[in-house]
Amino acid sequence: MSLSLNLSITLSKRNLPAQAENVLKGNLVQRVFVLSNTQQPLMPCHPARARELLRQNKAAVFKRYPFTIVLHDRETGYIQPIEVKLDPGSKTTGIALNLHGKKGIKTVWAANLSHRGHQITEAITARSQQRRARRSRNLRYRKPRFLNRAKPKGWFAPSILSRVHNCETWIYRLIKMAPVTLSAIETVRFDMQLMENPNIAGLEYQRGTLLGFELREYLLQRDNHTCQYCGGASGDKILNIDHKHPRAKGGSDRLANLILSCHSCNGDKNATLIPDWLKQVKKSKSKLNIARAKRLPGIIANKVNALRDAAAVNATRYKIGDIVKASGLPVTFWSGGRTKKNRTEQGYQKDHWIDAACVGESGERVFIAKSLKPILISATGHGSRQMCRVDKYGFQRTSAKKNSCVAGFSTGDIVKAVVPGGKNKGTYTGRIAVRASGYFNLKSENIVIQGIKHQHCQILHERDGYNYH
Ligand SMILES: [Zn+2]
Repeated sequence: MSLSLNLSITLSKRNLPAQAENVLKGNLVQRVFVLSNTQQPLMPCHPARARELLRQNKAAVFKRYPFTIVLHDRETGYIQPIEVKLDPGSKTTGIALNLHGKKGIKTVWAANLSHRGHQITEAITARSQQRRARRSRNLRYRKPRFLNRAKPKGWFAPSILSRVHNCETWIYRLIKMAPVTLSAIETVRFDMQLMENPNIAGLEYQRGTLLGFELREYLLQRDNHTCQYCGGASGDKILNIDHKHPRAKGGSDRLANLILSCHSCNGDKNATLIPDWLKQVKKSKSKLNIARAKRLPGIIANKVNALRDAAAVNATRYKIGDIVKASGLPVTFWSGGRTKKNRTEQGYQKDHWIDAACVGESGERVFIAKSLKPILISATGHGSRQMCRVDKYGFQRTSAKKNSCVAGFSTGDIVKAVVPGGKNKGTYTGRIAVRASGYFNLKSENIVIQGIKHQHCQILHERDGYNYH
């Protein structure tokens, strides 16, 4: 018999100890960051407590996004360890703060950070097209200037670097706002070292569920969720892990000997060697066996898929890991396979910030309240350095921008505008685009209001390169 593991993953109920469940339940919402009067980070508090402190005039608002208060009279306070966790993604990065309390670990703050890699790629393509057009516009030949430049070692494309910088910015911001003492970051999708040399962590680890889980995830990805023997011709939805060279005949558990197989193929092949099975299969004229006969020679020739290193190990994530290390925090590096195991075993849904909360060893038992909603942060950049806008032919359309600050306001500031009369009468909150005339455009949720006088605006949050929802 060739050994097979069933791949259906059952979602167990939240795997929390009963005591922790009792103590931690309740209406957990995003905590408010608290600073001491010397601007040292103290324990984040419940919004209700923050409102009370503000009402009693014991604290003042330090920052709106993320909401931070500063205490007037306290210099220190009781501090528990807080761990910052990161699940870096190409479009969105999940961030979570987990509090290590006496009664267990819980997520107290979370965010989904959207990157702007795509916008950067577009802007750079547009710039290179402009330059190419300009070079060829005059008749005299000009050598392209970019071909003589070597990329330095460790070079990252600007779109990718922006993701790294976004993560860096937020890690350093969180360190300033909360007493962060630990960090965990998901650096690789699959722990290849663990899978290739299962012996490294001892027998118990090998037999445990962790390796099995990560292996299944890896094989599902590598073999594209399809039976490799029949290519899905059997219509069998149940997928197993099969040993190409059967274990009964001395086949190993190494990755190269493992393959994704449907239940029917797995049963049909049993402990036969693949060349022998091919001979049997060729005798039959059924559609399924014809499909198998086509694919088996490739498997015998060892033409198995291999997830490219680039897919399994991500240079960007390591770069982010280096940045966290440089901040001086102790870092745990983690793999995506293990994060998923932590998340599914506790019955949490898939979301970037939830994945982040489940990264690391403390992610095995973490309480995430259903009422907790992440703050949505999107990178907006810091405006354009283009000195003047051009028309579609590349000719100057406007004069050079003189100043980016008008009456103390900058484009991107979040303001509250109270317009007492006129056609724009009303109260609005949103981001402004400043105009030299002193009449600004204000963009709130989904509308743009034009011509709001600067005298009617009050700054809530100065531009910092991010938008908040
Ligand atoms: Zn099959």
